[in-house]
Amino acid sequence: MRVYTHAACLAHDTGPAHAERPQRLAAVTDALHEVFADRLDWHEAPLAGEAELLRAHAPSLLQAVLATTPRERILLDPDTVLSPASAPAALRAAGAAIAAVDAVLAGDTLRAFCAVRPPGHHATRDTAMGFCLFNSVAVAALHALDAHGLTRVAIADFDVHHGNGTQAIFEHDPRVLFASSHQMPLYPDSGHAEERGVGNIINAPLPPGAAGNAFRDAWTTNLLPALDAFAPQLLLVSAGFDAHRRDPLAQLELEADDYAWLTGQLAAVADRHAGGRIVSLLEGGYDLQALRECAVAHVGALAGIAPA
Ligand SMILES: [Zn+2]
Repeated sequence: MRVYTHAACLAHDTGPAHAERPQRLAAVTDALHEVFADRLDWHEAPLAGEAELLRAHAPSLLQAVLATTPRERILLDPDTVLSPASAPAALRAAGAAIAAVDAVLAGDTLRAFCAVRPPGHHATRDTAMGFCLFNSVAVAALHALDAHGLTRVAIADFDVHHGNGTQAIFEHDPRVLFASSHQMPLYPDSGHAEERGVGNIINAPLPPGAAGNAFRDAWTTNLLPALDAFAPQLLLVSAGFDAHRRDPLAQLELEADDYAWLTGQLAAVADRHAGGRIVSLLEGGYDLQALRECAVAHVGALAGIAPA
């Protein structure tokens, strides 16, 4: 199984005391190297191209992120930092997702994980927000649809925050099914069960304090059956690990085992409908120890390999 990453993703400098910090990505890649050693196939993420980004985003957002390199950090919103090194990081994050889709659809690998930052699922067509500059999973889905000619792509999003940007980009596009579990109430305050798009949006909000049993129940009774009914040709995953009980930004109570369980269920969906093909992207997760455990659980289940 392939893992895409790039050193540029470590250089996106959000400043002191920002939760979305470079150490997050280092924790993930260090843990994967330590636990799986040479059983993963590591690749450098290429840069995304403008035409690929413009499938998901307005020219004004590309302009805001790419046109001027700030001399010091600036805020695009109260949470979202653009630093001198942020544009290359965002281009590598989206580029990882595009390259992973290409590799999976070419049959070069069955599964791929993109160990990247900044995350993406809050970015809308024209707005960077919630730590996110470009919506990499949306760029990946549109690449699979428009460049590869697929007609049904599903996105499973288990980050503790609702993927409002992904939902907004696809809520009128029946080629994409978006299935999300998330805490509510919580930033960004969207993701009610009543938000259905054109029947292609499935939201399962969970209350603060919900633990693995409620999480597994939501996926078993609601989200996984919707994914099965949609029968995607490719499954994309917005893999945020901030629903872990140690995470400081939210109040769900998941354990690493819950991520291994869900990943196994998603792999079974992909096996039934998509020839097993999954591309997963790192989204949130702000406790370094939880990130290490959850990334190992998720990637191990994706690859079908146990820790050494
Ligand atoms: Zn999150």
